[in-house]
Amino acid sequence: MPKTPVSILLPLPRGLKITLISEGLDGVLVHVTSVRRQAKCPLCQAPSRHIHSRYCRTPADQPCVGRPLRLLLNVRKFFCKVVDCPRKVFTERLPELVEPSSRLTIRLRSALQQVGFTCGGKGGERLATALGMGVSDTTVLWSVQLEQAPTTATDQVRVVGIDDWSWRRGQSYGTIIVDLERRRVLDLLPDRSVEAISTWLAAHPCIEVVSRDRGANYVEGATKGAPQATQVADRWHLYKNLGDTVESFLVRARVRLADETPLLSAEQGGEALAAVLSSSSTPATLSTSPVRSFVPLPRPAISTKPLRLEQSKARAQRKWQLHQQVHSLRSQGLSLHQVVKEVGLARNTVRKYARQPVPAVPPEPTLRPRRASVLDSYEEYLLRRWNEGCRNGALLFGEIRAQGYTGGKTVVKDYIRYLRKHHPSQTISSRPRQQRSASASPRELRWLLARQREDLDEEQQSRLNRLLAGSTEVQQIHALLQNFHVILRHKQHERLDCWLEQAQKSGIPEMRSFALGIRRDYEAVKAAILLPWSQGQTEGQVNKLKTLKRAMFGRAGFPLLRQRMLQSNSLPAG
Ligand SMILES: [Zn+2]
Repeated sequence: MPKTPVSILLPLPRGLKITLISEGLDGVLVHVTSVRRQAKCPLCQAPSRHIHSRYCRTPADQPCVGRPLRLLLNVRKFFCKVVDCPRKVFTERLPELVEPSSRLTIRLRSALQQVGFTCGGKGGERLATALGMGVSDTTVLWSVQLEQAPTTATDQVRVVGIDDWSWRRGQSYGTIIVDLERRRVLDLLPDRSVEAISTWLAAHPCIEVVSRDRGANYVEGATKGAPQATQVADRWHLYKNLGDTVESFLVRARVRLADETPLLSAEQGGEALAAVLSSSSTPATLSTSPVRSFVPLPRPAISTKPLRLEQSKARAQRKWQLHQQVHSLRSQGLSLHQVVKEVGLARNTVRKYARQPVPAVPPEPTLRPRRASVLDSYEEYLLRRWNEGCRNGALLFGEIRAQGYTGGKTVVKDYIRYLRKHHPSQTISSRPRQQRSASASPRELRWLLARQREDLDEEQQSRLNRLLAGSTEVQQIHALLQNFHVILRHKQHERLDCWLEQAQKSGIPEMRSFALGIRRDYEAVKAAILLPWSQGQTEGQVNKLKTLKRAMFGRAGFPLLRQRMLQSNSLPAG
């Protein structure tokens, strides 16, 4: 058939002819007639020329310049004359254009699949409508589900990373399996049971390396399903677990950095005050009588509101009880998974509790640094006025408001009440609140200890030195932490045994239990030091999965999520 301008714009399979193009209510209508002489019976495959009747199908096709396009397909029914064929009448098939009883052409369907894979149901519906495809999100989702998930030639997979992802946060988890060499998602499993993981791995006997986190299910699943493979513990989790260990030591031992500026003696306090006063721009109101300077203990840099303290204590108490409960359930032989279900905590928390020994008494609440306050920039002025003898909150509020203070009166009054309570009739050296509240939290100290010395600036170095000078235990934990990092960074697996011994001998309970955990997973940790594989790639894919899951508005079930995730392998990254 020679190509006409119309057949260039709207290509159709051989034997179909466009007879008319018209405008319908909702777009373009293309009338198409089948002119094939014969059709094959779908059952016996025998060709037939005996027309039974004609009828019209109206599948939607790809849009025409942004307008919906519908085909009016004039097709026929044929008689099958083969004597022993049970089918007496059959409809003409157009396998290149549209499937039997489908309301979309094959090319529209596959365009919708691409839209669905990229945008999900609702997003796909919006995009498809804007492009003139005019279909519902159900059609988009349905199109996606019709597509077979592409599978990788799994006999080539050598190195896999396994991790979990949360299906419903804290409630149910699935498993993701990534080909670390080809950076592709291999599969999603609907749970993270030992059975599911070992079955999947057993079906891929070519796997040589399994990189996994240190969750018991994955250890067991990998051991059962891929006994031939080397297991690699996750380096990132090693760093993190050790960091957590250090932090829990800092919290328990109540390690704090000595205050930033040394306390002033009384005389120095007086000088400092004089310096503040002389640098002030409004010296006129100064009382010249000698002030008996008194330097109080600095106001604590932590939040000390009674209610807050009560809340923190109650929280610590609750955590402590849960910690005990986890240990008692574990000692009854429950698996981590069962404990998670029983106590209703996140899996990682339960794992953490199971590893750490329960303290004999409830731990003191973690102290939180005070937050910045609107009062900070006026504190110096308020202290000066206090030292001049002004004790009137309302008056002081008026004064600093004139200077631009935008906060409330209560804040000022509370502050004056605080001064009255703790420093009655005394003058106070002015040490800016900002400076005091800079005192570091356990988390900040953890990072100070973890970083390499050459990465610290001068001030950080001096803070580190002061921190280390505080106690030998801190020195010990700093050395252990730094050495472990060196072992990981420089692949010095031969130093691991020595390190473990030191950690166990350190007398720091948190370090001892970390070392015990390493011993339990010794081979995999050693492999983590030696081999280049890590979970970084897997974590990246989990993030991609989270984005996809969110974009689907909880509409789709596991099969669709799996489809989209596997399909996304073939889409350009980004
Ligand atoms: Zn037949």
